[in-house]
Amino acid sequence: MYQSFIGLEVHIHLLTKTKVFCRCRSAFGDEPNTNVCPVCMGYPGVLPTLNLEAMRMGCIVARALNCTIPERTWFERKQYFYPDMTKNYQISQFASPLGQRGCLELEGSGADGKPIKKKVRIKECHLEEDAGKMIHTGTVSLLDYNRAGVSLLEIVTEPDMETGEEAEFFIQQLRRMVRYLGVCDGNMEEGSLRADANVSINLPGQGLGKKVEIKNLNSSRFVRLGLNYEIRRQAEILDGGRTVVQETRLWNENRDETAPMRQKENAQDYRYFPEPDLPVFCPDPAFLASVDKALVELPPARLKRLMAEYALTEEQAGLICDEKTSADYFEAAVRAAVAALPPEKALSQKDAADRIAKWILSDIKHLLHKEGLAGLDSFTLSPSRLASLVVMQAQGRLTGKLAKQTLERAVVEDKDPELIVREHHWEQITDPVLIAETARKVLAQEGATAGELQGLGNEDEKRRKTLFAYLVGKVLAATGGRADPKTAGEEIEKLLGTTAQP
Ligand code: ADP
Ligand code: MG
Ligand code: ZN
Repeated sequence: MYQSFIGLEVHIHLLTKTKVFCRCRSAFGDEPNTNVCPVCMGYPGVLPTLNLEAMRMGCIVARALNCTIPERTWFERKQYFYPDMTKNYQISQFASPLGQRGCLELEGSGADGKPIKKKVRIKECHLEEDAGKMIHTGTVSLLDYNRAGVSLLEIVTEPDMETGEEAEFFIQQLRRMVRYLGVCDGNMEEGSLRADANVSINLPGQGLGKKVEIKNLNSSRFVRLGLNYEIRRQAEILDGGRTVVQETRLWNENRDETAPMRQKENAQDYRYFPEPDLPVFCPDPAFLASVDKALVELPPARLKRLMAEYALTEEQAGLICDEKTSADYFEAAVRAAVAALPPEKALSQKDAADRIAKWILSDIKHLLHKEGLAGLDSFTLSPSRLASLVVMQAQGRLTGKLAKQTLERAVVEDKDPELIVREHHWEQITDPVLIAETARKVLAQEGATAGELQGLGNEDEKRRKTLFAYLVGKVLAATGGRADPKTAGEEIEKLLGTTAQP
């Protein structure tokens, strides 16, 4: 058996409105080569200016990853030639990255269902500019420079992970975290978050092996598959008495394997030197305070708190915490539901939480899907409207079925659920006298069924249940679904002089 070492380099696009060193718009999907200017096109003689918002967002991620922000951080030129980079150098950070020596704790379960608990050290986070995009079509390559100069934060881990599952989990955690922080949309298909995965294996106790880098993985699943494939491939090489070639490989998603891309010599010589056109950045107390202010409660902490405070199950809390917008929505709705009634009649927080979690995770989820909405922040039903629906239901004023109808109407008509229930007279009927009256009419119409029921022996339990359910259904139908099913059952039992369960 071998020991494996995995280190990730994750690139995230920061959600700045403009690029990192010029004022061009930073956006995905615009008409090619429309968001360009002399600075990001690398014209001679132009001067870059640092986008302070990019520096701030980078520092927010750095702090969320428990990194130290140095007193002085600056930029270097990383020289290499490539057609997607007009200047022939990339402005990046080398000697003084904005975030240094942090960690991210992984806790949960991996794609294989096995538990994961590990502290991954973060080597650094550095700010740089992205390159343009090359589009290869047949014998021609096209270039789109809209992406050239877009703010990119690179997060580099130490080689502390050991399995594809751990690396996948790391990416998922990081993705959720940057979305919570509002600094990256985490869209891996659009390339807003991409990862290079480094992996080596060795005999236990022998330290790191010769590493292979798998480049440009645009899905966390590919990270897992690529790494696990690579660990197996390297093990076979070592088993055969050969040595692993240090190289860069690509994941082929059609063949489920990695293939060589280029051999990488020990250290490519990028001839880094400090960028002479940008001053050293010294974060002042006001800047650092603005960074700290943006550090919202992060998903793992929030998940634990939601479980403790609202008695949610781990599964419920996990799903609700997946997006900050849904966790915010949940907590706002619970607060509103608890506050809706005077203290002596108020719903307990746990009762409200359980009901609201169930709505969010089933009916509301389906509605969002149906309306093609990405999240609860764009949902027409406000948390307080959901709260009012839940309160009516808890008070026994709405049957489950009509509650669902009320929800749908409230969304479509953008109206308060209370109003809808009143307009349609959907309040549940719980008055036994009223229900008995309806039941009497139903039994008169269903004489045959009633007779059969009364004649059944105790051994016909199944038939008895079926007939009872049928009659209750008739009473509900006769009241437009408004009668309380439990009371309806009780009244039928009284009228027939027999019980549903012998
Ligand atoms: P390079 O100079 O090739 O870019 P770095 O030292 O910057 O290498 O490391 C890049 C990534 O590779 C980091 O995430 C690091 O943890 C990982 N890494 C470095 N050496 C190894 C190794 N021998 N095995 C596995 N991962 C490694
Ligand atoms: Mg590197
Ligand atoms: Zn520009």
